Amino acid sequence: MRKTVKEPDLKRIATLVKSLLRELGEDVEREGLEKTPERVARSLAYLTRGYRQNLKAVVNGAHFATGTNHMVILKDIELYSMCEHHMLPFFGTCAIGYISRGRVLGVSKLARIVDMFARRLQIQERLTEQIADAVMAETNAEGVGVVIRAKHLCMMMRGVEKQNSEMVTSAVLGSFRSDEKVRGEFLSLASE
Ligand SMILES: [Zn+2]
Repeated sequence: MRKTVKEPDLKRIATLVKSLLRELGEDVEREGLEKTPERVARSLAYLTRGYRQNLKAVVNGAHFATGTNHMVILKDIELYSMCEHHMLPFFGTCAIGYISRGRVLGVSKLARIVDMFARRLQIQERLTEQIADAVMAETNAEGVGVVIRAKHLCMMMRGVEKQNSEMVTSAVLGSFRSDEKVRGEFLSLASE
């Protein structure tokens, strides 16, 4: 896993954004743009804060012991990320399912794991796999499944301009991969 990265230099980013605006043909001295470089710098730092987080700190030991081994599914986790090809947002929902071996994660922790990986430059396929791997690592589950449905602004605003297309990716590990029945149950529950 990627090691924690240092905090970005907001002043330096603001200077770069100012140059970028100028290059794009903007008058960076006009009133409306006065604070834009600093705002963009803070916004970019926020949108990429996942680089500065790590799984241990995010989960922070919030496991609960349960006696039963059944499938746990959390659906409709809101997801906002940025594609690494265009630095444009993609957004949608994530469903996570797993069969615990007596150890479950709090619901808010699953959402935080999603956020940690989403707040980086991503491609949807890798994001899906990273979430699945992280849940597996943190729960030692018998199996894990993750499905992400997302719309990509780089497809909607430019390029092919397909406004309504949604990309669906899935990653399955352990019994979700090896057992067709388990996988089927997860995928049908996740897409309801
Ligand atoms: Zn893109």
